[in-house]
This record gives sequence, C-alpha cells and structure tokens, in this order.
Amino acid sequence: MNASALAASLDQAVVSTVGDAPRASAAPAMVAGWRQRLARLRLWWHVLRLALGCLHPRQVPGALRALHAERARVRLGTRFKYARFGGRWHWDLHAPAWPSPAFDAYVRRELGRVATPDTSPAGLQTVIVAITKRCPLRCEHCCEWPVLNRPETLSRAELVTLIARLQELGVAQVMLSGGEPLQRFDDLCHVLAGARPTSDFWLLSSGVGLTPERARRLRAAGLRGVALSLDHHDPQAHDAFRGRPGAFAAVSAAAAAVRAADLALALSLCPTRAFVSGSALRRYAEQARALGAGFVQLLEPKAVGHFAAQDVALDDAQRAELEDFCLRLNHDPAARGLPLVSYPDFTRRRVGCQGAGQRYAYIDTDGLLHACPFCRTPAGRVLAGEPQDFARLLDDLRARGCPGDAACGERPRVGLAVRVRRPSGAAPVREARA
Ligand code: SF4
Repeated sequence: MNASALAASLDQAVVSTVGDAPRASAAPAMVAGWRQRLARLRLWWHVLRLALGCLHPRQVPGALRALHAERARVRLGTRFKYARFGGRWHWDLHAPAWPSPAFDAYVRRELGRVATPDTSPAGLQTVIVAITKRCPLRCEHCCEWPVLNRPETLSRAELVTLIARLQELGVAQVMLSGGEPLQRFDDLCHVLAGARPTSDFWLLSSGVGLTPERARRLRAAGLRGVALSLDHHDPQAHDAFRGRPGAFAAVSAAAAAVRAADLALALSLCPTRAFVSGSALRRYAEQARALGAGFVQLLEPKAVGHFAAQDVALDDAQRAELEDFCLRLNHDPAARGLPLVSYPDFTRRRVGCQGAGQRYAYIDTDGLLHACPFCRTPAGRVLAGEPQDFARLLDDLRARGCPGDAACGERPRVGLAVRVRRPSGAAPVREARA
C-alpha cells in the first residue's frame, strides 16, 4: 500500500470508528511539519549547549554524532512528529520530555556515556516500580497474578527510600505500576511530592479510579504522564479481557481526566492472537487519536502470570503485522496525526534486550530487582544494605543479562544484519544491525 492509499484507509477508519470511539476533550497531541522541525532544531540546539557545558569541546562533535546515530539505530530513523503535552515535547515514550530538569540530567548522562563508551556502562533509563499488590481487575494477561491482592510488604517510607535510590543513580524515568497504583493514592501523592524533578514520573494504570480531581492532584504532586491499558477498540472485548464490566468506560473517562490535567497520555495494548489484524490496529490507532494519546505501547502476550503455561505467543505473521504497524505510525508521513508507537519486543529482536539493567529494569511489589516485568529471576532486594549496594545489584543484573527464556520468546539474534521491512510502497526505512 502506498502513502496515499494508507491515508485513504486511515480516513476510512476515521469514518468507520468515529461513531463509537471514546473522546477526550483536549487538543490533538501530535505535532508534525514545520512546527516539529523547528522544535527538533531547538531541542538539538539545547543538547549542543548541554554538551558544551559538560564535555571538552573536542569531544562534542563525536558525542553528538554518536548520540544521533544510536537513536537512529534503535528507533529506525529520525521521527517526523512529536507529542506535545503540558508545554513539553515528547519524542520518545521512554525518555524525559523537553524542556525539563529531567531531560537535562538525562542528556548529560547520555553524553558522558557516548563520549567514554569504554568506561561508562549503558545508562539506566527507565525503571518500572510496582507499588501495590492491590487491584480491582482480573486481567487475562496479568503478570502480577501470583501476588495480586496479597498483603502489602512495602511501607510508604520504604517506597520513598526506594525512589530516592533510583534518583541517586540518575534514573531518568520512573514508571509507577502495581497492581493498580491508584489503590495507594495517598502514598502515590506522597512519593511523588518527595521526589526530585530530575526524573519524569509516569503512572501505569487501568484507569479505574482516575477522576479529574485525582489527575489534578497527581499533576500537582509531580506526575508527568499516564499510560492507560486499553486492549481492544471494542468496549465489550476490553471489559472481557480485563475481567470487569465498565473497564473500557473507565479508560475513556481517565483519558479525559489526564488530558484535562495537562498530563501526557499513552495507551498500552496487549495484542493477543485474537486481536492482531490490520483493520483492528487501524481502528485502535484512530481510537488512540480520539482519546488524545501521544503514544501507543505494544506489549506482546507472554506465558507468565495469569497467562502461565498457556500457548499465547504470537506467530511470525502476527509479529510482522505489528512491526509494520509500528513502522507506519512512526515513519510514514500519512500517519502524521496518529500516535507514536513503542514496541519493545521489536526493538529486542533488532538490537537486543534493553532490559536487565541495560536501559530499563523492574522492581516488584516486594522491592526485588528483576530484568523486566516478565523475566522474574530476582537479582536482590533494592532496599537491603546501603545505597551503594543497589549499584552493585544493578551491575550483577547487567552481568547476568537477559534471561532470554520462554517469557521473552526466542533469544535475540546477535551480530546479524537484519533488513527491516518498510511500509509497503514507502521509502526505505533503514537497515539495522541486530
Ligand atoms: S494487569 Fe494490571 S490492572 Fe490487570 S489485574 Fe493485573 S495488576 Fe490489575
């Protein structure tokens, strides 16, 4: 399909879904064209100034080139659109938005890493922290299933200490999850209010319990974005998957509350075998646009938690459909108004696992550090010992690397040239090296 045919099919999708798509009240999140190019120029100008402030002038050109090349390699090229929320530009779901103190701290750290690659380990970018075992839903794919609604083990004070340790290590983005993190709303506000602005804080939520008033309070306490789980464009299908009538309506209401509070909005989708098709993905993308989302995150079903011992893995054709969707939305100008797509499994297949402390890690509801939410072989307890022991724990996690077990599907290929499919009829996207 060429670009104009894609545009026509997306227009058709608007016509066919606009009647039943939930709507958020705020302006469109995506910015493309000259406004985005201007923002990108200003952003890189700011990065240049940061580089001149923290590196020797002779190191600056090489560091900027390395940073740009690395981003292009991981993201398959330069993006032609950004999401804009609360006066900030979001160019990646898993990096702080610009301008912000978190962005500056993140860029300085990244510049140091690429300037001295032999002595600097990969910078830990994102940590997902599960702050509660409580949840009112019963989702088919829940990876917290074995501990769901058991007694809490982490106190409010321990959560504060845990976040402080992450910030001491320079973690750029903290994603607070659960269970349903809104079930500990007062603790959530307390933790956010006590954190420094050198990290961006996001909430990973089902949307149940996220009222406009709560969204405003979270924003005031320091939250920057919310990723809402939405697993189908059809309300009944989403409610059935989430094990709760009204779950779809809760997402719709929560999205409106998030946008009204000027928080960034992403949607998270578990694309099951029954869901994956070109038409379902087009309808989902339109729904995400209607809700005002700037990002869609694709998390492939894995045989862990509630899905344990089930044959849920996608086949090659379904993965190819999702990869094509990801490439189209991120790189085809015809999709300029649709959200950016984050697809960690696709990234892992191309460039290797970014978890296990390389770029992200996971801390469970007992404070144990893991490679990711799916690979649960704990490296140790984050709160044990002194703050410097946490750094050693991370080194250990990195040294062990990605378990690459059944949870993640096949082991990532290493050292092979991979030709990345491009949107049919569109210009070549890029050739990547896995
Ligand atoms: S996936 Fe999330 S929302 Fe669903 S039951 Fe598990 S913790 Fe609750």
